[in-house]
Amino acid sequence: MKTILVRYCRSCGHIGELPKNMLKCCPKGPGELIPLTELKQAVEIGFTFIALTKAVALKQQLQSNQ
Ligand SMILES: [Zn+2]
Repeated sequence: MKTILVRYCRSCGHIGELPKNMLKCCPKGPGELIPLTELKQAVEIGFTFIALTKAVALKQQLQSNQ
């Protein structure tokens, strides 16, 4: 099974690749690539509702692309 890597910033909760005109999502930078399963855990541990909503939308999008 292929591991899906997703960019995630623990500072601001940004999920996914940055828009082309942006180098950073926040002063702490563009975040890191983590497996989607870990992203789900990170979100469950306590990031914002918006981040959770994005993660769910992203997961659905990725599943529909498979
Ligand atoms: Zn950020």
